[in-house]
Amino acid sequence: MIPRLRFAHLPTPIEPLPRLGKEIGLPSLYIKRDDQTGLAFGGDKTRKLEFLVAEALEQGAKMLITAGAAQSNHCRQTAAAAARFGFDCILVLSGEPPKTVSANLLLDELFAAQIVWAGERVNRDRVLSETFAQAQAQGKCPYLVPYGGSNSTGALGYAFAVEELLGQAVKPDWIVFASSSGGTQAGLVLGARLFGFQGQVLGISIDEPRPNLQDCVARLATETSGKFGTTIQFAPRDIQVNDDYCQAGYGVLTGSEREAIRSFARTEGLLLDPVYTGRAAAGLIDLARKGFFNPQQTILFWHTGGQPALFAEAYQDL
Ligand SMILES: *Cc1c(COP(=O)(O)O)cnc(C)c1O
Repeated sequence: MIPRLRFAHLPTPIEPLPRLGKEIGLPSLYIKRDDQTGLAFGGDKTRKLEFLVAEALEQGAKMLITAGAAQSNHCRQTAAAAARFGFDCILVLSGEPPKTVSANLLLDELFAAQIVWAGERVNRDRVLSETFAQAQAQGKCPYLVPYGGSNSTGALGYAFAVEELLGQAVKPDWIVFASSSGGTQAGLVLGARLFGFQGQVLGISIDEPRPNLQDCVARLATETSGKFGTTIQFAPRDIQVNDDYCQAGYGVLTGSEREAIRSFARTEGLLLDPVYTGRAAAGLIDLARKGFFNPQQTILFWHTGGQPALFAEAYQDL
C-alpha cells in the first residue's frame, strides 16, 4: 500500500466550455477543475501533498520545508497542509522581502509559515540546504518537500488522477495543461500507461525548453513507476511538450496570457492565473486557432489552480 492521506476534494468536476469552445472552434471542449481540490484555494499541488505529507508523517517528521518563487502556489498549499496536519513549516523563497505582502505570500503568513528570503534565484538551492541542515541540527525533524512537489512521491498524485478521470463521463482525446517542474505531467503520463488512458497528454511548458522538460518528465515518470512494483521506461520522445509560449520567461504576463485570462472569464465565468494556467490556456487557444486539434476531438483543459496570484502586486495591470 502506498501511504496517502485523503484531504483533497475528489473527484474534481469536469465541466463543458461551450461558449469558449465555439469561439475557438473546439465544439467538444471541457475543463477539469483541479483549481477546486479544496485545500486553501486548491490547485495541483494538493494531489501531490496527499502522498508527500503521508510520507512525512510516516517518517516521524515534525516540520515541512520547501522552496519556490515569492508567489509560489506550491508553497502556499504546502503551508496550508502543514497547518492542517500539525507540522511547523519553513518556506525558502527567492527574492527579497517585498514592501507589500499580498496574494499567496499573505496566505503563507496566515498559515504561520516561517519565510526565509534567499535573495537571487541562483542562491535558492544553497539557502534551502542550509535551512534544512539547521532545522535538523536543532532537532526539528524536518521533511524536505521538493520544488513543486515534483518527485516520485508527489507525482503519484497525478498517476491516480488519471484513474479518477477514467471513472468520469468525459473521454478526452487530448489533455492540455501547464507543465513546469514536471510532477504533474510525469504523473499523468504514468497514469495513462498504468490505467489505460488512450488519449494524448500535452504539457504546455511554462518556463523550460522542450528537451529539458521532456528529459525531466521521462526520468520522473520512470522513477515513479517503480512505486507500483515494476519499472516502466519512459523516453523523452514519449513526452509531449510544447514550449512555444514560454519565451517571455517565468511569471512574465504578456498579451497572450491577458487575452486567455479575459476569454475564459468573459465566455465561461472562469478564473485562470497569470503564471501557469493563463499561459497554458493561451497555448490551447493558439493551437486551436491554428487547426492543431481535429474539431471532432474532445479536448480537456486540466485547470491546475493558481488564482490567488491574480491578486499579487505584480499583476495589477491585468
Ligand atoms: C505548480 C503549478 C503547475 C505546474 O505543475 P508541475 O507539476 O510543477 O509541472 C501548473 N499550474 C499551477 C497553477 C501550479 O501551481
